[in-house]
Amino acid sequence: MNILVINSGSSSIKYKLFDFPKESLIDKGEIEKIGEKGSKAKNHTQGIDEVIKRILSKSKLTSLENIAAVGHRVVHGGEKFKQPHLIDKLVVKQIEECITLAPLHNPANLAGIKHCLKVFPTNFQVAVFDTAFHQTIPDYSYIYPIPYKYYKKYKVRKYGFHGTSHQFIAQKTARILKKPLSKLRLITAHLGNGCSITAINQGKSVATSMGFTPLEGLMMGTRSGDIDTAAVFNIMKKDKLTIEQMDKILNKQSGFLGVSGISNDLRNVRKAAAKGNQRAKLAIEIFINRLKEYIGAYLFCLGKVDAVCLTGGIGENNPELLKPVKNQIKKISPKTKVLTVPTDEELMIAKLTYQLFIKNKRGK
Ligand code: ADP
Repeated sequence: MNILVINSGSSSIKYKLFDFPKESLIDKGEIEKIGEKGSKAKNHTQGIDEVIKRILSKSKLTSLENIAAVGHRVVHGGEKFKQPHLIDKLVVKQIEECITLAPLHNPANLAGIKHCLKVFPTNFQVAVFDTAFHQTIPDYSYIYPIPYKYYKKYKVRKYGFHGTSHQFIAQKTARILKKPLSKLRLITAHLGNGCSITAINQGKSVATSMGFTPLEGLMMGTRSGDIDTAAVFNIMKKDKLTIEQMDKILNKQSGFLGVSGISNDLRNVRKAAAKGNQRAKLAIEIFINRLKEYIGAYLFCLGKVDAVCLTGGIGENNPELLKPVKNQIKKISPKTKVLTVPTDEELMIAKLTYQLFIKNKRGK
């Protein structure tokens, strides 16, 4: 059966079409720069229409009816969604309720979902949430030590993101190590433009670095990661910045870009560092140091770790850069394996969609 995966982001729609249960990729593509001049799509409705046009012309599908199920990436599922969910009117409403938690991402995800619900003959559409995998994190790890009323009133807590990727890596590592997930303790580090790291005990996320939003934790391409909030107040006061301006600085102008002043892309930062640029070197040192600090903390919390898994554009392609991290893990915990495991979030979404499809069919 064919499963279409839609990742409807704020300015792009990525798609992959799979043949299941073979898990083979039939087609993939991206509609870029939605709403910008020169784009194929003025909005997400046109974007989805363009995806359908491409699939029908490129993938030799005669009709949309050949697509048995559609899996949608949804960034924020709040506390409501602990696993993937078949989409109906109530689920759409509940995703809408999570907009306050992810004002940039959830509306774009929803725009894709809503149009797909109109145009696809299949009713089998599944929402897969970035936050769901982390819903197993205990309260002592997800509650921030601020007045408790802010959790009760506004649901301010750690949620964690990249869950689909961490889950995919954990399952793949179990296959690599030929052991059931229930017998493994893992640390998975998703190091891409966004970076997050997760401690996984017996297949369950027990700690993760991203927080209420994807801003917390490791240093990233343009995001600061952890920073003393009082430092933020200090900068805002001195430069008389609005909340929106400061938000932009921390989310879009920090990380590799902010420290190096060169680029958010590690490849460019590495090139500059190789030519002797001191700030580029410093940016890399900060990144590596913070990664070590988190791995150290999670090693300590888990007690014994079978493998540390590196993934994402940075994790998969920079073995020499990450060698000091690997050496340190080996020194502290000699039995822990350090693995490079390529991620595929869309395949994980397709797998989860397939599992729900089969479960539903059996239940009928
Ligand atoms: P995203 O998080 O947007 O999916 P990626 O997972 O591709 O992005 O990660 C982007 C980061 O990975 C960039 O910092 C980039 O420098 C790095 N990266 C991607 N591919 C390579 C490569 N072939 N060699 C070195 N670094 C890479």
